[in-house]
Amino acid sequence: MERKVRVRFAPSPTGALHLGGVRTALFNYLFARHNGGDFLLRIEDTDQTRYVPGAEEYIIESLKWCGLTVDEGVGAGGDCGPYRQSERKEIYREYALRLVESGHAYYAFDTAEELDALRKECENRGETFIYNAAHRGSLKNSLVMPADEVRRLLDSQAHYVIRFKMPENEDLLLHDIIRGEVHFNSSLLDDKVLYKSDGMPTYHLANIVDDHLMRITHVIRGEEWLPSLPLHVLLYRAFGWEDTMPEFAHLPLILKPVGNGKLSKRDGNKMGFPVFPMEFTDPATGEKWHGYKEDGYFPEAFINMLALLGWNPGTDQEIFTLQELCDLFTLDRVKKSGAKFDPEKTKWFNHKYLIAKPDSELAELVRPYLEADGLPYEPKKVERICALMKERYSFVKDLYEDCRFFFTAPTEFVEKDTKKYWKEGAKELMCELLEILRSIDDYTFANTEKVISAWITEKQLGFGKVMNPFRVAIIGAAKGPHMFDVIEIIGKEETLRRMERAIALM
Ligand code: GLU
Repeated sequence: MERKVRVRFAPSPTGALHLGGVRTALFNYLFARHNGGDFLLRIEDTDQTRYVPGAEEYIIESLKWCGLTVDEGVGAGGDCGPYRQSERKEIYREYALRLVESGHAYYAFDTAEELDALRKECENRGETFIYNAAHRGSLKNSLVMPADEVRRLLDSQAHYVIRFKMPENEDLLLHDIIRGEVHFNSSLLDDKVLYKSDGMPTYHLANIVDDHLMRITHVIRGEEWLPSLPLHVLLYRAFGWEDTMPEFAHLPLILKPVGNGKLSKRDGNKMGFPVFPMEFTDPATGEKWHGYKEDGYFPEAFINMLALLGWNPGTDQEIFTLQELCDLFTLDRVKKSGAKFDPEKTKWFNHKYLIAKPDSELAELVRPYLEADGLPYEPKKVERICALMKERYSFVKDLYEDCRFFFTAPTEFVEKDTKKYWKEGAKELMCELLEILRSIDDYTFANTEKVISAWITEKQLGFGKVMNPFRVAIIGAAKGPHMFDVIEIIGKEETLRRMERAIALM
C-alpha cells in the first residue's frame, strides 16, 4: 500500500533559525505539497545544555512569515503528539530499554575522565580511540560486567548511558535520493550514546523513534547529517522497522558568497547581509542579528531565492510563486554540490517582487513611513509616485526615502549641487520661470513640457541651464525623475511655493 507522504522539519531550538534551516523547511514543505502529503514541525529539544529561550517561538514565527504552513506538530496539533521531544521522555526510555533487551544496545558506566584517558593513550600510540567492537570488550559496560554488578550499579543510581552496539566490520551500501549510493563501513563508527541516566535520549534515538511513530516517509535534511545515516539505518533494523523506514535526502550545503566553505552567521555581519529570516537578539550575549523581514525583504522574494539554492526547475525561469514551486518541486532536481549564496541576487529578487506589486499595494507599504514622519497619506498620489519610481528600487524603504521630496519641501539644499547649478544668471532665469509657472493652470506633464520647452527654445537657453537649477530648487538636490513628472505630482501651489523659497535663498 502506498503510504501518504509525511515529512518533518525538526529543528533544535538552539538559537535563531539560519537561512539554511529555512531552506530545509522549505524543501520539506514543497515536497509535502507536491505530493499531497503532510508537513510536520517537531522541536528537537533534548539537548538542554544548548537550549535558547525564545528560539522555538522564533522558529514558528519565521515559518509563518515565510508562508510555510505547518499541518501537524508544535503549534498545529495532530494525533502523533506531543511534538516537542522534551515532552516524550518516557517514550524514548521504553525504546532504549527495548534495544538493550534485544541485545542491540547495552549499559555503559565509563566516566568521562576514564574515556578521556583512554583517548589520550590511544593518541600516544598513534591510534584513534573508537568506542566500538575494537575496545568495548575491555571497558566498563554490561557486555563485559557480571549481570549482578550491572544490576547493583543501576539500582544504586549510578550514572550510565545506553550505547548502540555497532556491528563489527559491516559494509553498508545505503541509498540517498540526492546522492545515490553511499558507502560506509561500520568499523569506523562508534557505539553512539542513545540514552542517558538523566532520562534524556540523544538526538539519534529520539529522531528515529519519532520518525517511526510519526509515520515519516521521507527525511529531508542538511548534508551535515549524512554521517549519521548508517547509525540511523542500523537503528531502524535493530527495531525491526526496516519495511517502513523513511527514504533519505541530504541537501547540499549553502556556501559563502566568496571563497569556500559553509555560509556562517558571521559571514552575514561581516559582509552586510542577513543570515536569519527575522531579527534576533541572542538572550545570552545580547548580540543582535539582522533579519530579512526587518531589512525590507518580501517573504515571497526570500523564499524564491532560497528555493533556487540547490534546486532548479530545469528551465530558465527564476521567478516563482510558492504555488508554482509546490507544483514543480521534485527531489531529483536537487543537486548534491554546494550552492553559493549570493546576497546581490537576493536583492535582485526583492526588486523583481517590488516592481511586480500593484501600485495600490506598494502605496500601502509606503504608508507607515509617511505616518512615521507625520506626513499625510494620499493614496492616489502615492500610487502615482510608486508607478513612476519603483523601477529604481529593491526596497520600499529606499523608495520612500528617495521620494520624500514629493511629500515635503526640501529643508536643505545639497551644497555641491547649489554650487554647481545656482550660478551666475540662475536666479534671473528662475524668476522668469516662476512667472511662466504662475501663468500655467494645467500642470499635466504634457502641458508643462510644451509651455516650458517652447520658452527655452525661444530664448535659446539650453535645457540643462534651466532644468538643473529648477531641479535643485524643487527637490533640494540634483536627483530625481523628470521635472515635469515632479511638478505634475506636487501640483501648482506647491511648485510655486518651493520656487519662491529657493529664489529667496539663491
Ligand atoms: N534536530 C536536528 C537539527 O537540528 C534534525 C536533523 C534531522 O532532520 O534529522 O537539524
